[in-house]
Amino acid sequence: MLVRFPPKVDNRAALEDFQLKGLKWTVNHAFNNSSFFKERFIEAGITPDDIKSLDDLQRLPFTTADDFRKGYPYPLLSVPPQDIIRIHASSGTTGKRKVVCYTQKDIDDWLDMFCRCYEMANLTREDKVQICVGYGVWTAGAGFQLACEKFGAMAIPSGPGNLEMQMTFLEDFGTTVLCCTASMALLVAQEVKKHNLKDKLNLKKIIAGSERTSPAMKAKIMELLGVKEYYDIPGLTELYGPGTGLSCSASDNLHYWADYYILEIIDPETLRPVAPGEIGEMVYTTLSKEAAPLIRYRSRDLTRIIAEPCPCGCILPRHAPILGRSDDMFVIRGVNVYPSGIDTILSACKTVGSEYQIILDRRDDGKDYMTIRIERGELLDSGSDPESQRWIYDEVRRKIMVTPIVEIVNYNELPRSERKTKRIFDNREV
Ligand code: ZN
Repeated sequence: MLVRFPPKVDNRAALEDFQLKGLKWTVNHAFNNSSFFKERFIEAGITPDDIKSLDDLQRLPFTTADDFRKGYPYPLLSVPPQDIIRIHASSGTTGKRKVVCYTQKDIDDWLDMFCRCYEMANLTREDKVQICVGYGVWTAGAGFQLACEKFGAMAIPSGPGNLEMQMTFLEDFGTTVLCCTASMALLVAQEVKKHNLKDKLNLKKIIAGSERTSPAMKAKIMELLGVKEYYDIPGLTELYGPGTGLSCSASDNLHYWADYYILEIIDPETLRPVAPGEIGEMVYTTLSKEAAPLIRYRSRDLTRIIAEPCPCGCILPRHAPILGRSDDMFVIRGVNVYPSGIDTILSACKTVGSEYQIILDRRDDGKDYMTIRIERGELLDSGSDPESQRWIYDEVRRKIMVTPIVEIVNYNELPRSERKTKRIFDNREV
């Protein structure tokens, strides 16, 4: 139960009232203090007085990543410049970075949200938290670290990479919680195995974020590190950064902090809300963000809402793990394929490892081909390959409706990454 950083209301009905109040505040604030939002609202023929219920949210125009780029260097700014106390930016590789501005209140709210994550993961002030994420202009380092200090646990700001140092710190400081991307967690886990350190460590939990993770990868990390608790933390730079929700001990689904933002799930084609429980794009509207409020911000991330109350007792709503991005979806021979669907199949195959690539080619016959290249299970020899190939081939054909080419490669042959692992390689000409 959340005691130190509890939800701002104690039941779902009160949550709706709270959200409506926050929505009204946000729309007023944006309309009165941002020329960008004011123009958008006028174009859409809407004024703050038109927001009378939560359903009126749907009358508001969407914002997108493009609005962040066009507004560079201070997009969506809704406060006087002197009220900005910090900026962060996304690690965007194409074009301009998405910059996010924060007031002191925005930072305070972010850290309260993040502390709630630590509390939900049952950390105490005794915990020693090794933070192996990117520091600098990205949100991760500052978020994990400052919240850890505010929470009162001990932060070990080790940053990403440098596996040798990570091993020394894990052992010498008696680290109990490891915070990183799933890719980095796998690297750390393999290094622990290589040096046979598992029994010397005091590691209890992993808080891993900002990356879609297959069940097989998660299981491998937990097994190699000997930990029983693994929490997923979502992290969208535009929405404060990491720490806006967490999976709980009851399941893989994530509670999200609905007292700080409204999450809509829409059909990315029609832009209408999907039916309850269906997969769609996550759209964010903040309730108290001052410097750069989000109003119907299209994240491109895909998930679905879990309607049932959580057995853990927390009243904050839940969504399923993020299934990928609407722009990660690829079409092959007329079939829409979400990478998460392939993840799930590969994770169920007992004779292969967690690391794989999907390669899309167009060959001389003019047809498209999908090759799944996956590592053999760690302790197996190539004798197991034909069986693995047949199993994956059949399952992908049956469940994804695409006929794949399956290649099994040696364990550890595919690249590991400290950040996010690239898995889809689309070599087809556009
Ligand atoms: Zn729960």
